[in-house]
Amino acid sequence: MKTIKVSVVTPDGPVYEADVEMVSAKAQSGELGVLPGHIPMVAPLEIGAVRLKKGNATELVAVSGGFLEVRPDRVTILAQAAERAEDIDVARAKAAKERAERRLQAKQDEIDHKRAELALRRAINRLNVANRHF
Ligand code: ATP
Repeated sequence: MKTIKVSVVTPDGPVYEADVEMVSAKAQSGELGVLPGHIPMVAPLEIGAVRLKKGNATELVAVSGGFLEVRPDRVTILAQAAERAEDIDVARAKAAKERAERRLQAKQDEIDHKRAELALRRAINRLNVANRHF
């Protein structure tokens, strides 16, 4: 089986590095699947799960937006924050979700509303990835 090198990198350092058979991610233009031999490209990502297929296993990484870059020999995902499923603190994500929901109910300006919406999406994404709901 052909593989491609993938790394997920954040400002705090690398989060994931492996040779995988396929990378799937939620690009702003829609779901993106990258197989070995894919043409070079750059795509902005949504808050979502990156799925990494290795044999019968699929590993999940939660990413909070960023970019996916495909080069001939590797895929690099650059994100402001990213966590492997097993590293997600579920209690923290639940607390972040509740905090964001409270903020969305309160009357506030547009910028704070947008921030709370994004915080809610990050928290839901982390909970989904931790529970493997993908
Ligand atoms: P919180 O309000 O809980 O800080 P957040 O969405 O505002 O959540 P970010 O700003 O996206 O957090 O991330 C800050 C740092 O904390 C990043 O390094 C990110 O990987 C990490 N992080 C955030 N939430 C979690 C979590 N539930 N489990 C593990 N790491 C997390």
